[in-house]
Amino acid sequence: MAGSGSRGNELYEILGVPKAASDTDIKKAYRKLAKEFHPDKNPEAGDKFKEISFAYDVLSDPKKRQVYDRYGLKGLQESGADGGSFSGHDIFSQLFGGGLFGMGGMGGRGGRDRYQGEDTIHPLKVSLECLYNGKTTKLQLSKNQICEGCQGKGSKSGMNYVCRGCRGAGYKIQFKPIMGNMSAQVNVKCTDCNGEGQTCPESDRCQQCRGKKVVQVTKILEVNVTKGMEDGTRITFWGQGDQQPGVEPGDVVIVLQQKPHEKFQRVDCDLYMTHTITLAEALCGFQFLVKHLDGRDILVKHPAGQIIKPGDVKGIVGEGMPLPKNPFEHGNLFIKFDVVFPANQFAEPEKLKMLETLLPPRPSFEMPTGENVEEVMLQEYDANDRSSQSNSRGGEAYNSDDEEGGAQRIQCPAQ
Ligand SMILES: [Zn+2]
Ligand SMILES: [Zn+2]
Repeated sequence: MAGSGSRGNELYEILGVPKAASDTDIKKAYRKLAKEFHPDKNPEAGDKFKEISFAYDVLSDPKKRQVYDRYGLKGLQESGADGGSFSGHDIFSQLFGGGLFGMGGMGGRGGRDRYQGEDTIHPLKVSLECLYNGKTTKLQLSKNQICEGCQGKGSKSGMNYVCRGCRGAGYKIQFKPIMGNMSAQVNVKCTDCNGEGQTCPESDRCQQCRGKKVVQVTKILEVNVTKGMEDGTRITFWGQGDQQPGVEPGDVVIVLQQKPHEKFQRVDCDLYMTHTITLAEALCGFQFLVKHLDGRDILVKHPAGQIIKPGDVKGIVGEGMPLPKNPFEHGNLFIKFDVVFPANQFAEPEKLKMLETLLPPRPSFEMPTGENVEEVMLQEYDANDRSSQSNSRGGEAYNSDDEEGGAQRIQCPAQ
């Protein structure tokens, strides 16, 4: 078996190749091992062969290999990247028994001698307010529970009926072409028993679960969202996953998904928002209220004369999100300012002259002498228009034989 100390390498170890092995090396190693451990030749090594096939199935598929390299077996299992040629549940729990990718050190799971079932991943949408203030949410989940009527046997008599189609294995071996006339062996779920390894005759079937050994029940989970949790935070309910006879239930993992907020964006522990001010406010100071995520009104003041330019960002210390590890501390709140300029002709020309006396002086301007001066007016201009035209003209904005194009572009009002 693969060593437990080398998490993330076990599949490479099964094939006996380094992590950087090429596709060809992996294929070679697989062929050699598959021959050696084929159940026909080596009936005792049935599980070994399953391991080899599984390792090859993952490592020969660039997508699965990538998921495995980054996130390990757990990642494969969660992404569902095992694709269906293997039942993820069976292969993971049977081959690796939960031990390899069990949370080492988390404790509380007891013996590892029973197989561990698949985790149930469940997204939970939460508001930013909820992540700021903390909240307990009740979540209704349906899950499989071992049937009480038959104690998970499926039969009234308590007898086990081994499936003939797969001799109780739950899977059948099939050949799947890999290249040319080469083929690889894969395990396919037995359809006779639906992978159970057993088929119970109608007459002896448990009425309560109809022979399925498990019944579906509805459970309410109390999800405790604490202050400062983030989008993607995982809350684990140990052993609350689907029950199955002979299998230690997996966990229910709640993954928080933050709903977009209309005012604030969150980046780690900081909050970002945009605020629009007028030109008068930008020049002469302002105050405004921000309704915070806990319902407080925050009065933001900015003194006259401290100029805010369009796009300026100012910060407020300690008004960001609570830190998950210490909810009494907060990140910062950053405010980006948009400045709205007055509309055209907002003031009479004489008033504009008055306004100008208050503003910093213009740069000096000197009219050049000679006849080489041509007076033009600025026109409204559409950036999209311009880019399409400059593209069609090969991107040369000032080409010498380009005057015609230039004349078309700006339609002069002729006076
Ligand atoms: Zn039953
Ligand atoms: Zn079967």
